[in-house]
Amino acid sequence: MSWRIPLSEIDLGPEEQSAIQDVLAREWLTMGEVTQKFEAAFAQMTGAKYALAVTNATAGLHMACMTLGLKPGDEVIVPSLTFVASANCIRYTGAQPIFADITSETNLNISPEAIERAITDRTRAILVVHYGGYACDMPAILAIAQRHGLHVIEDAAHAAGAWLEDRHLGSWGHIGCFSFFSNKNMTTGEGGMLLTNEDELFHKLSLLRSHGMTSLTLDRHKGHAWSYDVVDLGYNYRIDEMRSALGTVQLSKLERNNSRRRHLVDLYRSCLEELPQITIPFPNHPGITSAHIQPILLPPHADRVAFMERMKAQGIQTSIHYPPIHRFTAYRDVDPGAAARLPVTSEVAAREVTLPLYPRMTDDDVMAVTEAIADALLPETPTA
Ligand SMILES: *Cc1c(COP(=O)(O)O)cnc(C)c1O
Repeated sequence: MSWRIPLSEIDLGPEEQSAIQDVLAREWLTMGEVTQKFEAAFAQMTGAKYALAVTNATAGLHMACMTLGLKPGDEVIVPSLTFVASANCIRYTGAQPIFADITSETNLNISPEAIERAITDRTRAILVVHYGGYACDMPAILAIAQRHGLHVIEDAAHAAGAWLEDRHLGSWGHIGCFSFFSNKNMTTGEGGMLLTNEDELFHKLSLLRSHGMTSLTLDRHKGHAWSYDVVDLGYNYRIDEMRSALGTVQLSKLERNNSRRRHLVDLYRSCLEELPQITIPFPNHPGITSAHIQPILLPPHADRVAFMERMKAQGIQTSIHYPPIHRFTAYRDVDPGAAARLPVTSEVAAREVTLPLYPRMTDDDVMAVTEAIADALLPETPTA
């Protein structure tokens, strides 16, 4: 299917091609100096003390859960209205995800009050997700965590280039994790980045990324080390030099692309004012968003499948963020009390539709999408 206006589109150019060709010409492909430079640039952009590049965000979230010592019997509070990896990473350690509701129809982030209500004497951590790159209420969440002695992990997969107050998202909690999957605001194909401000967590994350080994292939190649010890049960969750080169170029475009995204979101908001039946979440949201996706809510009881079919018939791709995790088959027995705890999540999950949003989208495209929505909302004309 070729769309008139797709859901998202990557911004790739000759800069990315030549960056990857440079790596190939240097003939060092596994994690090395290009990755170190990528990490340094990401740490500098975010202001975090440490940045650690990984093979993808799911691996990064798994490392975060292990590093914070999660184990069977522990509970971790997490939203259900997110990608399944946000909760899978908790289960990898044997700990149990406990789903908490989102704030409201206009704030799709986890609710601090709902977090507080879900805390038990088994709770060890809170894993928050900055939906669409809009900041969770981190001051309130950190205060709760401090009061109860909990760790905070930020799934910042949507949030590259997003801020709250003077702190980049992903640098508020103990560990933050970004995704560079191909539909994210910056991409390496597959890839991710962890942030932490704590020396000990960084040390542990570095070990987990590469088999728990005390020296890297690069160190030995440079003659800095002859052998190594294995001091932890680690993994191979490394990125490679081609991806780091791609990521470095993508990072240099992030600010410009995110401001273009924010402009398009403002335009959506003003165009969609003509359609008061449509709710646009996150009006006047605090902080600077990365505007990763453009969610809208259809009127209550609207036929969403029919709506999306009519958008498709006009060449416009839409999506859903997200089918809530607690309803998946693989989650049936994970948190049996979840459904009763998630009224706002259920309401939003039934009505949410995601509209096209990407830096190369034109202002005319936004107007065309708005017109298509107006059309798709019209009652079906009866056929004779
Ligand atoms: C994309 C995404 C992930 C997973 O990222 P990968 O890099 O594909 O592993 C996790 N959480 C959220 C919210 C995401 O959108």
